[in-house]
Amino acid sequence: MALSEFELINRYFRRPGLAADPEVHPCVVLGPGDDCALLELPAGQQLALSLDVLVAGVHFPEDADPHLLAGRALAVNLSDLAAMGATPLGFTLGLTLPRIDETWLQGFSDGLLDAAARYCCPLLGGDTTRGPLQIAIQVQGRLAAGTALRRDGAKAGDDVYVSGQLGRAGLALSVLQNKLPAASAMQRDELLVAYYRPEPRLPLGVALRGLATSAQDVSDGVLADLGHIARASGVAMQLHAEQVPVAATLSALCAPAQALQLALTAGDDYELVFTASPAQRTAIADAAATTGTAVARIGRVTAGTGIEVVAADGSVILFPSAGYLHFS
Ligand code: ADP
Ligand code: MG
Repeated sequence: MALSEFELINRYFRRPGLAADPEVHPCVVLGPGDDCALLELPAGQQLALSLDVLVAGVHFPEDADPHLLAGRALAVNLSDLAAMGATPLGFTLGLTLPRIDETWLQGFSDGLLDAAARYCCPLLGGDTTRGPLQIAIQVQGRLAAGTALRRDGAKAGDDVYVSGQLGRAGLALSVLQNKLPAASAMQRDELLVAYYRPEPRLPLGVALRGLATSAQDVSDGVLADLGHIARASGVAMQLHAEQVPVAATLSALCAPAQALQLALTAGDDYELVFTASPAQRTAIADAAATTGTAVARIGRVTAGTGIEVVAADGSVILFPSAGYLHFS
């Protein structure tokens, strides 16, 4: 007999370890099962919210591994919390399924549970309906009032930074489309891990509160995402090409110009870009070291508009497109 909606929710989404439990999770007063979940924030804390909708055939292939898909869907939401300097409280899930496929649901639920446990971000509730495969996740986080890392605080004279290594998730799309014949099995695996298992930079985000003047995560590409900060802050930026942390695998597989272009314009890396006063250089290096996150200083905030990339000889490098534009 087909699983009822009630049984499905109980089996796959109200599992111990995945569902928020007041005994285990601070701030959770009531987990899923009632009409609403209940949260209580410590005094002086603000709530940070973010929602992402992933549609099969648009944001992921219909036949994507459900375990990887679930982990990635939660991780990209957590990356938005990281970019504000927030600590996860929990998430809600809106799931639309064309049919009840228990193998798929098991993989999806296991993937969610792994990510929820890893980042201490339990499932607070949701809604399950029939329709084309679609995954909506809303994360909720908390931070001390007034300390969020926003996009509108960059100032001329600030340094520009990026975490991690860039470009692997962008190149992974070529692997998924079988367009990279030269890559070894190990290189393919590394690229696919970068795409499917992005690491939300939560500890770095928290450590940057009070240090960074602005921050955001890299979902559309470094140039596009720094462009958002520049516009919101009313400033320009100049980046130095040779300081950009291009992932070694990109340098191994692509010509230098193509590697740099992927690193700066391909999306999905989910690293943090941020700005900070030069007076904070030591503190930023300490934050990077304490959180075990590589951080590179790649340029400077200037007066004006736009993002300019310059080569070692001072010439300006132009890129055909600065990131992925939805609806373009
Ligand atoms: P309602 O009609 O009140 O919205 P639902 O039948 O949609 O109730 O959900 C019943 C309970 O199960 C709620 O607490 C809801 O949060 C939870 N729930 C439903 N779908 C999911 C899901 N995909 N993940 C987590 N919890 C869910
Ligand atoms: Mg409902």
